[in-house]
Amino acid sequence: LDVPEKPIVPIIHGDGIGQDVGPAAQKVLEAAANATGRDVSWMRVYAGESGREKYDENLPDDTVNAIDEFRVAIKGPLTTPVGAGFRSLNVALRQTLDFYSNVRPTYYLDGVPSPMKAPEEMDMVTFRENTEDVYAGIEWEEGTEEVEQVREFVEDEMGFDDVMHDGPIGIGIKPITEFGSKRLVRKAIDYALEHDRDKVTLVGKGNIMKFTEGQFTEWGMEVADEEYDDEEVFAAPDSLWEEQDDIDVPDEAVMVESRLADAMLQWMQLRTDEFSVLAMPNLNGDYLSDAAGAQIGGLGIAPGANFGDARVLAEPVHGSAPKRAGQNKANPTAMTLSGRLMFDYMGWKDAGDLVRDAVEETISSGKVTYDLERQLDDAEKLGTDEYAEAIVD
Ligand code: NAD
Repeated sequence: LDVPEKPIVPIIHGDGIGQDVGPAAQKVLEAAANATGRDVSWMRVYAGESGREKYDENLPDDTVNAIDEFRVAIKGPLTTPVGAGFRSLNVALRQTLDFYSNVRPTYYLDGVPSPMKAPEEMDMVTFRENTEDVYAGIEWEEGTEEVEQVREFVEDEMGFDDVMHDGPIGIGIKPITEFGSKRLVRKAIDYALEHDRDKVTLVGKGNIMKFTEGQFTEWGMEVADEEYDDEEVFAAPDSLWEEQDDIDVPDEAVMVESRLADAMLQWMQLRTDEFSVLAMPNLNGDYLSDAAGAQIGGLGIAPGANFGDARVLAEPVHGSAPKRAGQNKANPTAMTLSGRLMFDYMGWKDAGDLVRDAVEETISSGKVTYDLERQLDDAEKLGTDEYAEAIVD
């Protein structure tokens, strides 16, 4: 990305713990930029609660336009109440600006508590499709005409009268397109090629959802097979049934294999070192990346970023954790390391690496926030601000 000398970077601090971790992450990122001879011009933009306060709107046009125009932005979490009548602002932002790939690297930092035997083996990057699947938000509640039509169609025309039990029912649609699947898998393969990674694993539940998740995997294999040289990228559609050692992958080629989503959650924990880049539909990506985050210290640590074409919106994996909001307690690491992804995309790799190293040094010196402190012996519990200051120091 062509970044100006002092780029304008829109930032949404976010709801709930966003008010704690947003300013703290901003402080660390600014310090890393300055320490590597750079400068950022932060532009506070508003959404969620702050959007309602300033604009009387959840997602003001000014916010969307700023992210659209300046191309590089970072956000904290936004609350989505459970239940009818409120669509996720996070999903709306991703869909409006076509941030179609959500990238979540999972790597281990020294000193972080982990339930795993060998957490240092964890070095995975998940590519989650970000605009479709059940997150498209196409669903209807009982009492609507659409539900009646679907019920009639399924029972009368398809003859599946044993599937729909009597009484209220909710219905959702899970669209997975060739276009959406292929562009996501392409991003994952290109990432593997650029970062010298040897494998891309497509994760779907195609044995049950044949025309959605099954197709995702087939389309992904088509990308691997048809769009790249075999010596460079090797599609292994039989990887579900064959032992990996029996598959003859050309030396140096990135192997594209597939796994069923449920088994993948197991493999990820038992054979961590066998996986590198993962690509999957939206819902699988949501579940799997949270679970991967738990293996390297939990949601307080896990970073992420949304990518479109020539655009990035960094955001931590975690949500707004309302019960910890405004208490100067939450861990700003996830949002800070999300900023590292943004810096990398801007070509500021040294600033990003500095952020990572400083975070690691702080944690391994025993200075942590409450979430890690309760899992560690002899650690010093700091508030969000004090912890951010320790990273800056
Ligand atoms: P959550 O991620 O907000 O919190 C779950 C738990 O994880 C918290 O109770 C806390 O114990 C821990 N946690 C999360 N982040 C932490 C941090 N930085 N430091 C320390 N501990 C941390 O998930 P939730 O409770 O399921 O969701 C709360 C709200 O956030 C919901 O409205 C949900 O829709 C929203 N959400 C937003 C995003 C986003 O903005 N991208 C993502 C997920 C959830």
